[in-house]
Formats: sequence, C-alpha cells, structure tokens
Amino acid sequence: MVQPYRHEPFTDFTVEENKKAMEEALSQVKSELGQEYPLIIGGERIYTDRKIESFNPAKKDEIVGYVSKADQELAEKAMQVADETFEWWRKSTPEMRADILFRAAAIVRRRKFEFNAWIIYEGGKPWKEADADIAEGIDFLEYYGRQMLEIAEGKEINSRTVENNRFGYIPLGVGLVVSPWNFLFAIMCGTAVSPMVTGNTVLLKPASATPVIAYKLMEVLEEAGMPAGVINYIPGSGSEIGDYLVEHPKTRFISFTGSRDVGVGIYEKAAKVQPGQKWLKRVVAEMGGKDTIIVDNDSDLELAAESIMNSAFGFQGQKCSACSRVVAHEDVYDDLLERVTELTKDITVGNTTEKNYFMGPVVDKGAFDKISGYIETGKNEGKLVLGGDGDDSKGFFLNPTIFADVDPEATIMQEEIFGPVVAFTKAKDFNEALDIANNTDYGLTGAVITNNRNHIEMAKEDFHVGNLYFNRGCTAAIVGYHPFGGFNMSGTDSKAGGPDYLYNFLQGKTYSEML
Ligand code: NDP
Repeated sequence: MVQPYRHEPFTDFTVEENKKAMEEALSQVKSELGQEYPLIIGGERIYTDRKIESFNPAKKDEIVGYVSKADQELAEKAMQVADETFEWWRKSTPEMRADILFRAAAIVRRRKFEFNAWIIYEGGKPWKEADADIAEGIDFLEYYGRQMLEIAEGKEINSRTVENNRFGYIPLGVGLVVSPWNFLFAIMCGTAVSPMVTGNTVLLKPASATPVIAYKLMEVLEEAGMPAGVINYIPGSGSEIGDYLVEHPKTRFISFTGSRDVGVGIYEKAAKVQPGQKWLKRVVAEMGGKDTIIVDNDSDLELAAESIMNSAFGFQGQKCSACSRVVAHEDVYDDLLERVTELTKDITVGNTTEKNYFMGPVVDKGAFDKISGYIETGKNEGKLVLGGDGDDSKGFFLNPTIFADVDPEATIMQEEIFGPVVAFTKAKDFNEALDIANNTDYGLTGAVITNNRNHIEMAKEDFHVGNLYFNRGCTAAIVGYHPFGGFNMSGTDSKAGGPDYLYNFLQGKTYSEML
C-alpha cells in the first residue's frame, strides 16, 4: 500500500540552516552553468549545431546552458520512436508506471535545494517561489501516481445473468506536451508525467526560455526507471516543431499550457483532420488569466492588502493566477489602496541568484518591453500610484506598479499583462463588483475578501472562474487541494492536480461477454 497523498511542505528560509543550504546549492549550480545539453530521443543523446541559449534573466550575459534544438526531421524521428514505444508501453502495468513517479519524487525531494537553485538561475525565481515550484512538481509526481493506481481499479458497471460486463480506461497514444516557462519545473513535470503514467508516450517540448530544468527532469525520470522512448525531450521553436507536431497525423493529443494566442492557434490546427489521421485529436489547453480580487466593505482590510500584494507581485506577477485587478467597495477603496501601497513599498527587487529578494527579474527582453508598454498605456488610463519604472541594463527588472482609478473596460483591466502591475477600480456595491470581475474574456482565478456570508454565496453562484477563493489571495493552488484550471478563454478547464485530470489522457473501454 502506498502512503496517503500529502503535499510537499515548503522550506522556511528564515531558518539559518535552510538559508545556508540554499546558498551552497546556488554556488554549486553556478559552477555547473554553461554546459551543453542534447536532445533525448528513444534514450539516445543527440547534439545539434543549432542551440538554444538559456540565460539567467537577472544577469543576461550569464548562460545557464546551451541546449540542442530539434528541427522538423528530429521531431519526426521522435514521433516515430514514441509511436513504436507506445505499442508496448500501453500494456505496461499502472503499478510500474506509478512506481517510476514515486521514485522520481523521492529523487527530486533529496535534491530539492539543487533543483531550487536551477530554477532560480533559469527562471529568475525568488527563493520562496522556486521552492514552491519544485514542491508542486513533487506533488504532481506523488498525486498522479496515486490517481493512476485508483483509476486502474476500474469503475463498477452492471452485469446480467447472461452477460458479464467490465469497464476500464486505456491510454490514447502519442501526445505532444508543450509547457510554459513560468512554472518551469512544476507545470513542465506535471504535464509530462500525467500522460506517461496513464500509459501514453510523450514528446516534451519545453519553453525555449527554460529547457535546462526539463533536461534535469529527464535525468531524474531515467534514474527512476523510465524506459527509453516513453518521454522524448525535444526542445525547439514553438512555431517550427510545435506547429509540425500539432498537425502531425500520428499526434493523438496535445497538452498545452501557455498564452491565449498560441493555445487558440493549437486548438484550431489540431481540429483539422490530416490525411492518414484516424482520430479526432484531443486538446488540453490551459491559457492566460486576468484575475481579480474583490474587496467588500465588511472585510478584513489587512488580510485584503496582504493577499493583493502577494498575489500581484509574487514571482513578479508572472503567474496565470496573478492578481492584476482589484475591485474594491467604495467605502474601503481609499484605505485599501493606501495599505497595499505601503506594503508594496517594502518589496525588494534584485538578482535572486545572489540574495533572497522578494522579487526577481521578468523572464526576458520581450516580457520587459511588453510589460513596459502596458505601464505606458496605464499612465493614460489611470493614476500611477507606485512603480512604473525598471532597469534592463543587466537583467530584466521592473518595479512593482500600482494604478488607481482605472475604468473596468480599460486595456490594463482587460488584457493579460503578465508582470508586476495591478490596477484598482471602485464598485458601489457587491453586485457591481461581481459584474466588473466577470467583464473579461478570461475566467481563471478570483478571490473575494468579505465577512458577509450572503456575498460569499452570491460569488459562488456568479463569479465565473475555475478557481474561486475566499478570504485569501488568488494564487498558490496546491496539488490535490485546489484542482486548477479556468473557464472561457483561460482554457479547457482540465483541473490539473485534481481527481479528474488523468482522464484527459485516457479513453473508456467497455468489455461485454455473453455467458
Ligand atoms: P507561450 O504561449 O508563449 O508559450 C508556451 C509554450 O508554447 C512554449 O513552449 C512555446 O514555445 C510554445 N509555442 C509557441 N508557439 C507555438 C506553436 N505555434 N505551436 C506549438 N507550441 C508553441 O506562453 P509563455 O511560455 O509565455 O507562458 C505564459 C502564458 O502561459 C501566460 O499567458 C500564462 O497565463 C499562461 N499560463 C497558463 C497557466 C494555466 O494553467 N492556465 C499556467 C501557466 C501559464 P517557445 O518557448 O519555443 O516559443
């Protein structure tokens, strides 16, 4: 019997011993920067001439690793290997597959500080955020392993005296997994191992900004006993190999996490049946967010301010669940804005590979420029209360930015900024607050800070988001506790880390025998 699932505890870096261990891991990883990494196809290491240069966003001339880049020919090779491997892997036992995940979780747990350090370098994460990202990856391994064991027992259906019936689930085939850079370990790991533990084979295309940590996961899975060809590691350009594999007739499903534009494009391309294709492709697409915290007049304002500050600026606002909109009741609007501003003034920004700052850099120049553009737009759409500036001379640093008195229909209230920017707007009552909260194309997360039980019930019915939180922030979902996924243009609501998630990669089969 496996032990019951329990989520991985977070590391407390105020404890001297943990701080020291983190510093040691950072200096160890620093000595390992700048190495070359191959593709892994069918267990074979393949080095290519074209390389992705993964760099430290806090120090752009510091190269984390040079990673081989797959072209269409290598993508095709990976597809052939994954297709052949599926023929036997689909018959492997769920117990064996789950055990690989459990062992992988144990390996990552033992090397947690080292893994934290890799994603601090590659993703620009503050320590706390890096630790939560690695913990979430461990959680996915532990949780999906257990979910597979449960699913393997099948579901009860009825039989008759003349007929024996059974029902169970089988895998789909070869899946393309396309992951983002923001949860560079957790989402990459969770989306790669969920189809694998259900008996599918995988082509893993990590984000081009963060391919080194994905290589590290491959090493862990191999050490844990994953056979060659089950997950194939093929970093490369989204438009070059991504499009090729999305349209490939042998691709059975696509699991994508990333931006709305790319997700919609994948959904459309996958819908077209290609010559030789024998199925309708399944698409899991988890996309952007424009997440709101509502603050009611009867509420704990200190809790509200802390929740907003943490949800808006944790990991530089680069979370799909980040709070980028605050809708406050007019009675408390001014006090709340003042308190959030005070708390935000204490935020430290800097190179987290050197020191444990609250905020690190944004991921690259593209992000820096895009967010800066929204900040300029914001200056015309509201009152700049704090921040609004940055420095990209060494790394991509932006200060936490607050806008007040923004119209609910303004650009910065509607479009995903994906950076440390939050906009405040006023509502005259709770009904209006709900209307404003629902007025975007997205529906990922949201939070309500209130002591009013009626308002909690109203929000449960009418606040249309996949993850709705009360009296806490709108980020920090935990595997097994807060199944995660959004409505509307936030995606297909697959609810990662929830009890139904693995069914995305399975199909039900009925067996009926006449007696
Ligand atoms: P992108 O959409 O830019 O990229 C995501 C992945 O898609 C990358 O691996 C990228 O590759 C790849 N890609 C790009 N173009 C194509 C294509 N034509 N075909 C196939 N794959 C392609 O998103 P980001 O990495 O910038 O991630 C941030 C976004 O992700 C935000 O919008 C955020 O809200 C969302 N997100 C959503 C989550 C959710 O659960 N709903 C969770 C986390 C993030 P390459 O890097 O090579 O371009």
